[in-house]
Amino acid sequence: MDVWIDQDLCTGDGLCEETAPAVFMLRDGIAYVKAPNGAPQFAGGSTSMVPIPDQLLDSVLDAAENCPGECIFIEA
Ligand code: SF4
Repeated sequence: MDVWIDQDLCTGDGLCEETAPAVFMLRDGIAYVKAPNGAPQFAGGSTSMVPIPDQLLDSVLDAAENCPGECIFIEA
């Protein structure tokens, strides 16, 4: 499974970072995903899709379900 964020829809509330800090981070009030090696993907959008480590899948799914902007996308 992979995850990416549509930054155009992000409200910047930070819920994703609180829920799964190994995968999400905020910069300048907008959320971005991080690669499994921790590298932030500041290009954003679907071109910044990263694989979700198995042990983090539940927390990433929780973050996506609770995202106020409905802008966390998970793809098989
Ligand atoms: S939970 Fe959604 S809206 Fe909130 S900061 Fe994360 S990606 Fe943006």
